[in-house]
Amino acid sequence: MATNVVDVMVLGAGIVGISSAIHLQRQGFATTLVDRRGAGEETSFGNAGIIQREGVHPYMFPSGFCKLIAYALNRRIDARYHVGSLARIAPFLWRYWRASNSATVRQTLQANLPLFAECLEAHAELACAARSETLIAKHGWIRLIRNARALAETEREISELKELGLDACLVGGKELRELEPDIDASAFEAAVHHRQPWTVSDPGALVKSYASLFVEEGGRIVQGDALKLGRSGGYWRLATAVCAIASPQIVVALGPWSMDFLKQHGVRLPMGIKRGYHCHFRPANGAVLHRPVVDEAYGYVLAPMTRGMRITSGIEFAALDAPRTPVQIEQLIPRAREIFPLAESLDAQPWMGMRPVFPDMLPVIGKLSGAPATWVNFGHGHHGFTLGPATGKLLAQLVAGAPSFCDPEPYRPARFGKVGH
Ligand SMILES: Cc1cc2nc3c(=O)[nH]c(=O)nc-3n(C[C@H](O)[C@H](O)[C@H](O)COP(=O)(O)OP(=O)(O)OC[C@H]3O[C@@H](n4cnc5c(N)ncnc54)[C@H](O)[C@@H]3O)c2cc1C
Repeated sequence: MATNVVDVMVLGAGIVGISSAIHLQRQGFATTLVDRRGAGEETSFGNAGIIQREGVHPYMFPSGFCKLIAYALNRRIDARYHVGSLARIAPFLWRYWRASNSATVRQTLQANLPLFAECLEAHAELACAARSETLIAKHGWIRLIRNARALAETEREISELKELGLDACLVGGKELRELEPDIDASAFEAAVHHRQPWTVSDPGALVKSYASLFVEEGGRIVQGDALKLGRSGGYWRLATAVCAIASPQIVVALGPWSMDFLKQHGVRLPMGIKRGYHCHFRPANGAVLHRPVVDEAYGYVLAPMTRGMRITSGIEFAALDAPRTPVQIEQLIPRAREIFPLAESLDAQPWMGMRPVFPDMLPVIGKLSGAPATWVNFGHGHHGFTLGPATGKLLAQLVAGAPSFCDPEPYRPARFGKVGH
């Protein structure tokens, strides 16, 4: 079998890998994208589809004694842990808890600003070229607030967002009814309308349209297992069922599976997993939702999608290979039914996805010192769908040695100390 020699192999065809591959190709690198499945069929398929322009504040470990006890007893719906995984996830939880201090929160917020500032334009650039803009709506999303205490916290967050030049608007019951007549506004104290973010009616289809764009622009997508990659003669090499590929350098964008690959090559990074589930329902009685709503007290999103009303759950800390435990989504469905008319379920069983996260809630973007000719772009946590196109652009600028649109220093993998061997 003849070997195709390319400039860069990108591992993983989720939103992050595809966006990186497009920008590498645009920087003049002959790029091949490798995935064991089709493009955009894992985490990038099943998310809530919000391009969260306002999402600059990191989700840190909860504070407050009562909340901590409730989390420790696994009694919360918004976040829980997989009991059987506890021994394996404890080191990550410890690092996450330690990183959840005000200094790290400030640093992460600052590091988030330039990436989130780029997120809408970076999506627009790809969606326009891919002719898939019709999948994107620009009506924002709504955060629903159930009690006065949460309202006070939210008011503080709104003023912080405003100081950062971000738009967020507190709305009362009357305005909520005007925006979303089919939501039962009586259950809520107030709501916040985040007007800048965009939302997507089929995240998997948007990612697939970006994959087609990559091919149109001269890139190649190959099905293959990244875990079979080897290195010899100064090249990374992969033999697939249809071809052999060699490249002097690789980009690891395997999302939640990135550490499976890197551990094989002696690299250690403190990544954790926050799992989430989704399921779809047919709206009852012709009810319509114009934009996603987030019922913050229970940590779920109700999002209008092409397939139906998608409910996505909050956080389940678990090991990568732990058995599915869709407890949260089962508890959420009656809550969602209380606020919006839902008919029958459209899925045989809930979908499960995994958010790859680092203790400081920032991704790793840059060159690895612990492995040869290896770049990384993963660990986008709650915001990979938002940030994939922006971090793909940044990564490609770094590989090309071109001026980058922001300082890459905060995302360096070496911020966690020595990463390899
Ligand atoms: C319930 C839920 C809701 C979310 N909602 C939002 C939201 O509204 N907005 C937002 O911005 N983010 C959201 N996210 C987060 C977002 O979906 C992720 O951060 C993002 O999809 C990660 O993209 P990725 O490309 O890094 O990973 P993935 O999309 O998982 O891509 C990784 C790819 O690697 C491939 N792969 C794995 N192993 C191998 C191997 N051995 N060989 C070859 N290929 C391999 C997989 O097949 C996959 O295609 C949500 C996540 C969840 C779980």
